[in-house]
Amino acid sequence: MTGADRRGSPEGRLVVISGPSGAGKTSVCRELKQSPKIEFSVSATTRPVRANERDGFDYHFLSPEDFASRVERGEFLEWASYNDCCYGTLRAPMDAAVAAGQIFLLEIEVNGTKQLREAGVPGLYLFIAPPDIAELRRRLVSRGTNTQEDIAARVRIAEREIDAAQEVVLGSPLYDHVILNQDLPATVCRVRELISL
Ligand code: 5GP
Repeated sequence: MTGADRRGSPEGRLVVISGPSGAGKTSVCRELKQSPKIEFSVSATTRPVRANERDGFDYHFLSPEDFASRVERGEFLEWASYNDCCYGTLRAPMDAAVAAGQIFLLEIEVNGTKQLREAGVPGLYLFIAPPDIAELRRRLVSRGTNTQEDIAARVRIAEREIDAAQEVVLGSPLYDHVILNQDLPATVCRVRELISL
């Protein structure tokens, strides 16, 4: 089965956007939010809430115990550990959005993406890459929301994620397209074109 075969129907469907922290995927997603055809997955996480974030809107902020019991109950479509915290996509909202003909957009890291590919979940899988690691570090610093240690950890994870984006899962590339984000408007344009918005 090729990546294109796994994309699903042109109506209700899944779009996965991954990329290292600082590559610009959240900015891309913010632009896509303008479209009424797109519904965004609100992930659950055990990471502490940042000053500019709202519970239930940016994430469902859960205690590690609550997260673990939801894992046991099978509530997650996928979940992964990232920088010592857990992040996961809840199944129920995705099923409802796809059934209603919406494009359901997941912004997740590569280990979660691998789980979806291994389970044969149909969708369009996109990876947003930074121009280079120095630019990625600069973007993380200019955000002003991460500590120095957190930035160093995110840069290390980014290097692994960029390598992992090239992997092949069940005979197909993990991602259907890798998009180099040098210029945000051009990247948004390319993503819209790929999603057929
Ligand atoms: P942040 O802490 O910067 O909000 O997110 C850290 C990483 O976790 C990002 O790469 C983000 O895309 C990823 N992430 C957010 N939600 C989920 C999720 O539900 N599942 C997985 N696997 N990764 C997620």
